[in-house]
Amino acid sequence: MSTITNICIERLNELNASQRRFLRDCEPVSPVQVRVDGKNYLSFAGNDYLGLRMHPAVVDAGVNVATHYGAGSGASRLVTGNHPLYGPLEAALAEYKHTEAALVFGSGYLANIGVVASLMGEGDLILADKLVHACILDGARLSGATLKRFKHNDAAHAQTLLQAHRSAYRHVLIVTESIFSMDGDRAPLVELSKLAREHHAWLMVDDAHGLGEDYEVQPDIWVGTLSKAIGGYGGYVAASNPVIDLLTNHARSLIFSTGLPPAVCASALAALRFMKAEPERADKASNHARHFTKELGLSLAESAIVPLITGSAESALALSEKLKTHGIWATAIRPPTVPANTARLRLTFSAEHSDEEVQALISAIKAAQKDAI
Ligand SMILES: *Cc1c(COP(=O)(O)O)cnc(C)c1O
Repeated sequence: MSTITNICIERLNELNASQRRFLRDCEPVSPVQVRVDGKNYLSFAGNDYLGLRMHPAVVDAGVNVATHYGAGSGASRLVTGNHPLYGPLEAALAEYKHTEAALVFGSGYLANIGVVASLMGEGDLILADKLVHACILDGARLSGATLKRFKHNDAAHAQTLLQAHRSAYRHVLIVTESIFSMDGDRAPLVELSKLAREHHAWLMVDDAHGLGEDYEVQPDIWVGTLSKAIGGYGGYVAASNPVIDLLTNHARSLIFSTGLPPAVCASALAALRFMKAEPERADKASNHARHFTKELGLSLAESAIVPLITGSAESALALSEKLKTHGIWATAIRPPTVPANTARLRLTFSAEHSDEEVQALISAIKAAQKDAI
């Protein structure tokens, strides 16, 4: 019988063991420790690069606001959910990204699908880096625009595509990430910005994995998240006033979704201030990543993210399991999240890791690699 339950069982059976995904309880113990199945692990698998999500002042800012304004926002922003924490947070985000304005969405995912689907439509072209995040591709699908991909970080390929196809479309949006989520490398923003100007295209950069740094270019649109270096939850778009006004009127993922809880905005605002006032946090996370890549003979880290590519999904899972025996948590990332045969451990470094903890990771990986030979 093709009940929905039976169909789901059949479809799950089509996945092999290394493809199956499971949710598991991960109890936060410290900014860099998780407790899983009754055991504590040192984690190199989070996105809290600056260690701000457990910063007492960041947490307190949220607690105080929750006491006054409650647990939720009660409505979408255009109805009655636009509580007084949004204004200062958006002003701080616009200042941070050097734009006229910013608009906070429920998450980075919602920001990306909202901005891409609102600005682009049928007859337009979206030119995206091969490795951009899934939510940008989902936004492209929703928009009805044509999507073409250029080879990862290959501005020359983007140029070739523009030369061949620009004239067939009305508007063109070039989309990339400042720092790529699964590889930790940086986009050629200067070249892409130049291409955008030369071909009358717009440039959008997703800065989800930025650590608060300034970049050498100012794209037409910044997208970002409040959930990684900023340590909380939510997403944003930063751009000119008219772009933000347009999104306020057209972005369905903003209009038809409840506003963020006031406490969440208050914590993000506090975290943004620490991000700016304490740049040594970003330096520490990047230094850990660079030290790690030097010790393991990998190409020098360009961010707080380092991929340790193993190839097959099985080998990534095996290395992850091996590290667990050393008390280290490093998540295996497998296709389809990453391209076929590039399964990896995605290691992330935080300002809250000590030098000794990074050394423990290095030693554990070296021991695991020796065992594997
Ligand atoms: C994490 C991420 C997002 C989604 O942000 P959330 O706030 O987690 O929804 C968007 N883009 C990129 C590049 C990301 O890594």
